[in-house]
Amino acid sequence: MNTPQKYTRRLFLQNVFFALGSSLFIATSPAFSSRKTGLSISEETEDYPSYIKLYKSGELSRRVKKLKSIHENCHLCPRDCRVDRTKGQLGRCQASDRVKVSSAYPHFGEESPLVGKYGSGTIFFSNCGLRCVYCQNYTISIEGEGVEIADRRLAESMLSLQKMGCHNINLVTPTHYVPNIVSALKKAIPKGLRIPLVYNTGGYEKLDVLQLLDGIIDIYMPDCKYMDPKHASMYSDGAYNYPYYVRLAFKEMFRQVGDLVVERGLAKRGLIIRHLVLPNRIAGTEQFLKFVAENLSKTTYLNIMRQYRPEYKATEYPEIARQLKRKEYTEALQWAKKYGLTRLDR
Ligand code: SF4
Repeated sequence: MNTPQKYTRRLFLQNVFFALGSSLFIATSPAFSSRKTGLSISEETEDYPSYIKLYKSGELSRRVKKLKSIHENCHLCPRDCRVDRTKGQLGRCQASDRVKVSSAYPHFGEESPLVGKYGSGTIFFSNCGLRCVYCQNYTISIEGEGVEIADRRLAESMLSLQKMGCHNINLVTPTHYVPNIVSALKKAIPKGLRIPLVYNTGGYEKLDVLQLLDGIIDIYMPDCKYMDPKHASMYSDGAYNYPYYVRLAFKEMFRQVGDLVVERGLAKRGLIIRHLVLPNRIAGTEQFLKFVAENLSKTTYLNIMRQYRPEYKATEYPEIARQLKRKEYTEALQWAKKYGLTRLDR
């Protein structure tokens, strides 16, 4: 969930009221009340987004049940803590079985096919299983800033974002709250939710959980943080198996949704991968690009990001305690070209 636009404490304070009182905001903001979903009439009457089909068949209810049961012996992510979150036990991510949200608002700093005219309806979830030492959103993802809400309120937030005209629901750091998100989705669909979900994740995912999201998520947007277990372990709290799981996740996400399909400037379905280039080749940029070209598709939509800054505890690690050099970013672009990857976000 690396964020192209810095999410500041000020932004948090400006927007947290939305998570707390979204209905009030909509009711008193006529400028937002009549905006359309951004979908054509034919799309609104078809089985799109994909979750409509699962809802109609009853499969979505079965998925909610299966996912909720994982809370009792949590293995939602590769940390595999096996704690019972329904009994108040906390795993590495520090999340309970109630969803915790830091903010929800139309975001205009995301990739252009997500933003369109009225923004990407971004919901920032609190806590995270990865706990990177350079996290730019550490007050939310590590310190847990946010408000616990019922799944019903999360559904209301989704509907409010749609009503504001947002083109999608952009779920930032969703992994540890997947059961709550799918449960909220089930509540939002009969009330009219019709915009696609964007699964905006750090890429540390379990295959069996991703398989339960098949047909629910239309747009996957994982990060690729590292390709070397040693680096993953050092900078993401011992997550040595990150490179193994992120490769599996990419393949599964690509199998489900394929290359990004953009219609009239808006992302409809597919995969977007973000890669934050780290100093001293620590993100394994060349290996990542080679992997994409050889295992996914040469037309994979990639956002190779240059905005690394040493945040949170990064200054304690000399090799990542500085910004990226221009030549390090240029080198990344050259590798993309070398492997025939030209569909880069600009
Ligand atoms: S979601 Fe949280 S509790 Fe569950 S396995 Fe991952 S880190 Fe552990």
